[in-house]
Amino acid sequence: MSECGCGSSECERTVLIYACSGGANVAEISDQAARELASAGQGAMFCLAGLGADIPGMIQTARDADLNLVIDGCPMDCAKKIFDRHELTNYRQIKVTDLGIEKVKGVRGSCEQVAAVVKKAGEAIAECG
Ligand code: SF4
Repeated sequence: MSECGCGSSECERTVLIYACSGGANVAEISDQAARELASAGQGAMFCLAGLGADIPGMIQTARDADLNLVIDGCPMDCAKKIFDRHELTNYRQIKVTDLGIEKVKGVRGSCEQVAAVVKKAGEAIAECG
């Protein structure tokens, strides 16, 4: 479905990227980072809401992926909990607040914050190769 972006011409593992995409600034950052990662060819963005809605085909797609990269905004771990509920274990989670970015009401994420998450996510994808 998508090459992982590791640079190897022989690597064709399927990497799917999910963002919690909630209403908070850290969720906005997770969403923007996921879209930038997908645009950069690091994986394909996939719909977390579909897993949350128990859509069987989408759960199977996640199960079949080589890696699901899950970007949560905060320690509520909403996206991770959806994966755990479906007993999907082939994921790696990163959390925006773990990068020192505070969850604040009424504030928009910045380009620098998105870039920091993109960098961390890229490292996580590479580590899972
Ligand atoms: S993980 Fe945090 S920021 Fe993301 S949807 Fe859940 S509560 Fe909102």
